[in-house]
Amino acid sequence: MLNALHPIPAPADWRTDVAVPILKNLLRLTAPNPGVMTGPGTNSYLVGEPDTGFIVIDPGPADADHLQRLFDCAQTPDGRGGNIRMIVCTHSHPDHAPGAKPLQALCANALRAAQPARDFNVPEIMGLPSAPTARAGSSFIPDRSLAHGELLTLGAGPEVPQHTLRVIHTPGHAANHLCLMMVEDGLLFSGDHVLNGSTTVVDPPDGNMADYIASLDLLDAQCCAHGVQFILPAHGHVLVDAIGAIRHLKAHRLKREAKIEAVMRADPDGSLDTWLPLAYDDVDPRIWPVARRSLLAHVERIQMLQRQEARGKST
Ligand SMILES: [Zn+2]
Repeated sequence: MLNALHPIPAPADWRTDVAVPILKNLLRLTAPNPGVMTGPGTNSYLVGEPDTGFIVIDPGPADADHLQRLFDCAQTPDGRGGNIRMIVCTHSHPDHAPGAKPLQALCANALRAAQPARDFNVPEIMGLPSAPTARAGSSFIPDRSLAHGELLTLGAGPEVPQHTLRVIHTPGHAANHLCLMMVEDGLLFSGDHVLNGSTTVVDPPDGNMADYIASLDLLDAQCCAHGVQFILPAHGHVLVDAIGAIRHLKAHRLKREAKIEAVMRADPDGSLDTWLPLAYDDVDPRIWPVARRSLLAHVERIQMLQRQEARGKST
């Protein structure tokens, strides 16, 4: 079913200067923004081929060189760049979405200057608008809002292969987070919901742990239903066992939550600050400021479940 040109996982070295081909119809270009929170950098993906045009997933930060490379990689059959039909942002965080508008502007300039004129329009920026809970640097309004279950299709002609992305709304890491399933090839673009090599931050109020875990269950069901084998995260390498990775992640979260619940039970009058060193005693203290946000998210979910349990007992 998979038409791999290169074996998955793709080459281990991180290249920000060239696109790494993953499939015949899939390129990965990593932005030059490595860091504690971004791992080797944000992975931008290009779905499509010259005959169909391309969908850019997560253009990344507004880095001019990176955006120019994305533009150049999306080639027309006659070798010109800018063959971009849609720009999709998995969510509005600053390492994912700010490149969308300048990339769109590059495309618009090229289309205006093209001789002969090209037979496609300026690509729309798609995704979900940021919720009011988003931090100031994460506000985002797409040209077009995507609906859960919507299909984005490239290549409809009789001689042209078709590439389809199915939109899956997955709140949790961010309220406006979505994942995209590449239907013909059994792949899931997971954005920041599932990562490889780092842990997804769930930062309330835009992040929500109950939503995060419910979205993992949804992804599990969708991957089972559609035979998805591989996950392509926004940070890190391809994950080769999609369902195993999702279940491992959920088990890891619930194990942490059980530990937090035990700490809270032992010190019911405590606070985030007193619970943190006990609940995350296995984690490098330098990570604690970030872990504190996830602790809050777990505490919110634990308290929500306790309220539900109390309501169940009283009825
Ligand atoms: Zn993010």
